[in-house]
This record gives sequence, structure tokens and C-alpha cells, in this order.
Amino acid sequence: MSSRGSLFVISGPSGSGKSSLANRALEDIPNLRFSVSHTTRKPRAGEQDSREYFFVSQEKFQEMVEESGFIEHACVYGYDYGTSEESVEALRQEGFDVLLDIDVQGGRQVRESHPEAVLVFVFPPSLEVLTRRLKDRKSDDENVITRRLNTAKEEINAYRKYQYVIINDDYEESVSELKAIIQDTGSAFRLENRHDRAEEIIKTFWEN
Ligand code: 5GP
Repeated sequence: MSSRGSLFVISGPSGSGKSSLANRALEDIPNLRFSVSHTTRKPRAGEQDSREYFFVSQEKFQEMVEESGFIEHACVYGYDYGTSEESVEALRQEGFDVLLDIDVQGGRQVRESHPEAVLVFVFPPSLEVLTRRLKDRKSDDENVITRRLNTAKEEINAYRKYQYVIINDDYEESVSELKAIIQDTGSAFRLENRHDRAEEIIKTFWEN
């Protein structure tokens, strides 16, 4: 492989389904690699160090921040998360396209430091569906769900700075859209073509 790979960012509220979409794209696109983030949160059941995340101490994370080891970093739900500059660069130099699954604060930092990055925002079809999905997970209690929904209300507005919008109603359709974006055939899902539907969904977030 010769030319430097591209950089993709996928963001969206918790429960939007962005991580499962990202996983499918990673399975289906051979040249695409996942950027494994560093985090100070503890592993959940089934998670493995250096696969889902590099699980590090607060001290180690701070050290990396001070050494400017991160392309971006942010505090999400009380824990720190960051994307290592070195590993992303190494993959891109090898010619791999790299996908970052990060929150909207991170997305903003990447947009500023890497203007060539392609940013994709995943919408739930409505607040109602998002609430149902979070409840169906059964992993979080009521307080956590309420907190996630409140965060979603704020972060969903950040979509306006993303170039592509996926409205994750039908999962298989969304998978094809994400793949089309990464493989550069997804112009129909560009922000300007999705703006009206996205604004309709945002309205549902503020109705009650
Ligand atoms: P979780 O802890 O549930 O895996 O992720 C919580 C949130 O943190 C998700 O929105 C995820 O996209 C985001 N996240 C994961 N890694 C990073 C990262 O390296 N940087 C930033 N800014 N957000 C991240």
C-alpha cells in the first residue's frame, strides 16, 4: 500500500447505534481499521484491553495529555477518552483508512486539527425510538437513561458541523449508507441533503 489513508469520524448520541454500524463497516471494508481509544473507565463485561479500548489509569491518561499524545480527548459521562496520535498516524501511513468512534467534543477537535477528516453523524429516527432503545438495553438504570437522554438533547445539535448524516431507522440501510460514505459513493447522505429530516427529528427532542 502506498498512499496515506483517510480519516473518518462517527459520532451520535448513545443509543443511536453508531458503534454497531461502525463494527459492520469494519467487518465489511478490508482497508478500514478501528482506532482503539484510551479511556479511564473500567472495562465492561466482555470487553478486552486493547480491543475495545486501552484501559488506563488517570495518571497514565494525564501523562499522555501532557505529552500531546492525543489527536483529541474529552470527558464523557465522567470518564476521560482520547485518540492516540501515534497509532492513527501509523495506520494511515501504512495506507489504511481509519475510523474513530468518538463523541461530539472529540469530533470538533478532529475537525479543527485534521480538516481532511470525513465526519459522519448518526441520528436516531426520533427521541421516542432513542428512549426505547436505551430502555431495551436493560444495562442502565433510570437515572443513567435520563442522563443519556439529556446529553443527547445537547449533543445532537452538533450534527450541523458534520458532513454526512445517517438516520438510523433501518439498520441494514444505515450500514449500506455508512459503507457508501466511506467508499466515497454516499453523496445522497451529505448534510445538505439530510438537513430537513434531521431538523424534523430535533423538533421531537424538544416537544415535551
Ligand atoms: P462507551 O464508554 O460507552 O464505550 O463510550 C462513551 C462515549 O465515548 C461514546 O459516545 C464514544 O463514542 C465516546 N468515545 C469513545 N472513545 C472516544 C475517544 O477517544 N474520544 C472521544 N472524544 N470520545 C470517545
